[in-house]
Amino acid sequence: MTDRNLGPGSTLGIVGGGQLGRMIALAAANYGLKVHVYAPDRDSPAFDVAARTTCAAYDDAEALADFARSVDVVTYEFENIPHATADILAAHAPLHPNARALSTTQDRLTEKAFVNGLGIPTALFQAVDTPDDLDRAVAAIGLPAVLKTRRFGYDGKGQRILRERAEGDRNALFAEFGGAPLILEGFVPFEREVSVVGARARDGSFAAFDLCENEHQDHILALTRVPAPGLTAETGRAALDIAKRIADALDYVGVLAVEMFLVREDGAERLVVNEIAPRVHNSGHWTIEGALTSQFAQHVRAVCGWPLGDPARVGGLPVEMRNLIGAQADDWHALLAEPGAQLHLYGKGAARAGRKMGHVTRLGSRPAGF
Ligand code: AMP
Repeated sequence: MTDRNLGPGSTLGIVGGGQLGRMIALAAANYGLKVHVYAPDRDSPAFDVAARTTCAAYDDAEALADFARSVDVVTYEFENIPHATADILAAHAPLHPNARALSTTQDRLTEKAFVNGLGIPTALFQAVDTPDDLDRAVAAIGLPAVLKTRRFGYDGKGQRILRERAEGDRNALFAEFGGAPLILEGFVPFEREVSVVGARARDGSFAAFDLCENEHQDHILALTRVPAPGLTAETGRAALDIAKRIADALDYVGVLAVEMFLVREDGAERLVVNEIAPRVHNSGHWTIEGALTSQFAQHVRAVCGWPLGDPARVGGLPVEMRNLIGAQADDWHALLAEPGAQLHLYGKGAARAGRKMGHVTRLGSRPAGF
């Protein structure tokens, strides 16, 4: 579907009802847009802040078509949207980011091949479809290495580090992954994990937020710091350039995040791309208070065909964003009382272990005990 010129009062369709969809919807409301959220789960956090909701499965062709016809543009908050679903949506409304961005990034193999094709480094990798493939891949790549499902992995789910050749029976290892297509990646001896969150508009203009550093706990993002402390300005520029080249090559419209490993070799900093997220990203939550334009406002601007906003940090201040995982959100009252702490809660019911319940952002120097 071709793009229309959208103005305030138009309706933005969001596929997916999690906290990312919720924060996109809140940003859309600030621009006078209405939001229609499509999600299969009745308890979707984004439903609470949407003018219209559709609760239906991602393979319900009729509900998808009705939803897409009811909105002026469709976007999504997660990348595991089936191909057929994207096709139905795109037949009835402009879909941003486009279906190619989805298909390229949904599969770690196509994603890495695409990134390498742009001359941008990734870990070494090989497809692994059979136990024999695994032997060949280990011989080619060496150990340690990381065995991952090609699709549907997130927060470290569906992956396993292989350290020694003798590790268990390879058939048992295969069974552990349930027969899903796999990829073996060389282990990248990274010093830190960093990410770029950037936006590309319909006219091809590009604006990125400063390079962030990310710390994970139990494979879940715990803390984002921006600017990534201690890195050279050249590395910051190189990271933003990588994100721009990826966005250009996908003819991308919207916000994307590129997760990278920072490797130090003989004192020199080198960037290795790990993953592309074709959506707003947890490592960009700091932008709500920390940047002149939030990643969510930027995404809305891009998918509506509007000019991008200024991604500069507010007052040039350093910013830290900490996720509130599971019971950490129980501290909400103390966080409200802390001067300068900006609390966000996602309206999720039960604080299950590992569940992202909210986040807190702090600008400027850190308070003691942070
Ligand atoms: P992913 O699901 O690919 O984002 O991986 C989750 C986490 O596992 C990353 O944030 C890294 O900490 C680690 N990891 C993934 N792939 C590699 C790799 N090839 N080398 C080293 N660490 C990795």
